[in-house]
Amino acid sequence: MSNSQSIREELCRYAQKTVANKLVVGPGGNISARHDGKMYLSPSGFALDEIRPAQWVEVDIATGDMTDIGLRPSSEVLMHLYAYRANPDIGAIVHTHPPYCIAFTLVARDLPIMFPDQAALVGRTVYVPYVLPTTDKLADAVVEKVNEASSILLGNHGLVTTGRNLREAYYRTEVVEESSKIYLIASAIREPKVMTSEEYEEIASLESEAYRIQLLQKMK
Ligand SMILES: [Zn+2]
Repeated sequence: MSNSQSIREELCRYAQKTVANKLVVGPGGNISARHDGKMYLSPSGFALDEIRPAQWVEVDIATGDMTDIGLRPSSEVLMHLYAYRANPDIGAIVHTHPPYCIAFTLVARDLPIMFPDQAALVGRTVYVPYVLPTTDKLADAVVEKVNEASSILLGNHGLVTTGRNLREAYYRTEVVEESSKIYLIASAIREPKVMTSEEYEEIASLESEAYRIQLLQKMK
């Protein structure tokens, strides 16, 4: 427990941000982080901002064994577990139900890249059509995409973002929600003018790595 104390506290901080910023309401959504071969996942039945540090459920990533603390893990435990197994670079996963993201999936699938912070911090967003939540169908659909993109829109459901750490995964959620909002506002007027692939490539190129890192530092 003492060994995992700082990751547990960090999880609480970002969990509170997801609720404060209306990225999730009620007991929806789930968050996890990887630490020392284990993942720490939100328990089932809690609003994310109610979770105390000791209540994050510890699951061994290789075996799936859980440390019994008398709480059930989030019902999306398989989605988190499979994602960590499939991509060793993933250090954290944020699953939320942001309103503009959900609205976007009701009318469109492919979120275009529209502005530099989106290009630099998130890049491409992929889409998974609606499947029944809490099932291995959802876990399988998401795991297929975790090596393709760090943000996955779930049709009629919400969003999953991954990152090397919680801060990166969390801010990707904020940027994708902002992007969905901007897209919907612009497309109410006419077909949005999105970034060209050359403009996107320019940002995504190695030279812009410094720009991306600068942005992430600003987000501290
Ligand atoms: Zn969900």
